[in-house]
Amino acid sequence: MSAPIGYFDYAAATPLDKNVIASMLPVMNGQFFNPSSSHKLGRAAKAELDLQRKKAAELLGVKPINIVFTAGASEANNLAISGVMQAHPNGNVIVSAVEHESVMAVSQKYDVRVAPVDERGLVILEELEKLIDEQTALVSVMYANNEVGTIQPLRRISQMLEVVRATRKDHKNTQPIYLHTDATQAVNYLDVHAHRLGVDLMTIGGGKIYGPKQTGLLCVLGGISLTPQVYGGGQEWGYRSGTENLAQITGLVQAMAQSQALRNTEVDRLRILQHQTIKRIRVLSPEIIVNGHLKHRLPNNIHVTLPGYDNERLIMQLEEMGVYVAAGSACAASSDRPSHVLRAMGLSDEAAQSSLRITMGRGTDENSVELLCSSIAELLVKN
Ligand code: PLP
Repeated sequence: MSAPIGYFDYAAATPLDKNVIASMLPVMNGQFFNPSSSHKLGRAAKAELDLQRKKAAELLGVKPINIVFTAGASEANNLAISGVMQAHPNGNVIVSAVEHESVMAVSQKYDVRVAPVDERGLVILEELEKLIDEQTALVSVMYANNEVGTIQPLRRISQMLEVVRATRKDHKNTQPIYLHTDATQAVNYLDVHAHRLGVDLMTIGGGKIYGPKQTGLLCVLGGISLTPQVYGGGQEWGYRSGTENLAQITGLVQAMAQSQALRNTEVDRLRILQHQTIKRIRVLSPEIIVNGHLKHRLPNNIHVTLPGYDNERLIMQLEEMGVYVAAGSACAASSDRPSHVLRAMGLSDEAAQSSLRITMGRGTDENSVELLCSSIAELLVKN
């Protein structure tokens, strides 16, 4: 099913791509065998699993042994944080103030420090650097933010950690320091080659890239000690036991391949729509504020504050016009708390509650933008 013309919540969920469904159907219909079974049918399933792992690895520029399939990005984030922190119990973890809840919440279990961001949502590198001490084992900074779309300078953070590693070596400090990134919102639009980015661990999720929900993976580069989070039969290199869901994994990998293949054309196409929309919304009222970084931002994200308007009311009114937008991230939206991302960027609670997240995707075109802008215009006159 494709999304309705007025759907602007692609950061929360994307429809399943038809090629993804086509890749999964034969596996769902015929390949129910257990890859751990030693008979011929099990071995065929194992061969298919190995093939999918190899394809996923190639897309990220790593080896098959570096891929741990999970049931979603939240699980991959939990595995990254808990896996590293439990393997290094004397260590501390630094997370950026705008991480997804699945990083924020699990990191609270450990000695955590929060790196602040500036008003555009960019991690302040000098502040991050100050938080690193001799025992820091993990730095987790997302690739692109799910609320405001800000893209973080991962390469520069990776270079910072290189310097820390060199100093530790000089000081005979054997504590490792790893860089994890949650790339869930980035795969559709950015390069996700792990070595080019300089990351040690990377989270990917299927549900935001036109793949099946509850699919994902954690890319874990060699030499990293990670404590397993699901114990059992020892699947996924022992990090995450449980019989592999081959159909879901096939769909995830197909979705990753397609997102990466389409990414340059989608970036160009959506950038134009993004600029058109921002321009038109700004014309509607000089008071409207566009949040996030104007340049280093995902091409599908528009985040605005409409001072004096209540976002929940706006969402309901837009829904009546066939336009579907969000207040914050889908997870935060279910609570009454103002978004921690917007607060970290310095927005007041009032401004956060007057903010809308508008996210575009493959089904968004000029007609969608027309519907969105004319609907917002109508509401501003009405309210
Ligand atoms: N990380 C980011 C940046 C996300 O946007 C999301 C979902 O919104 C997740 C992690 C969690 O994904 P899932 O709910 O598929 O586990």
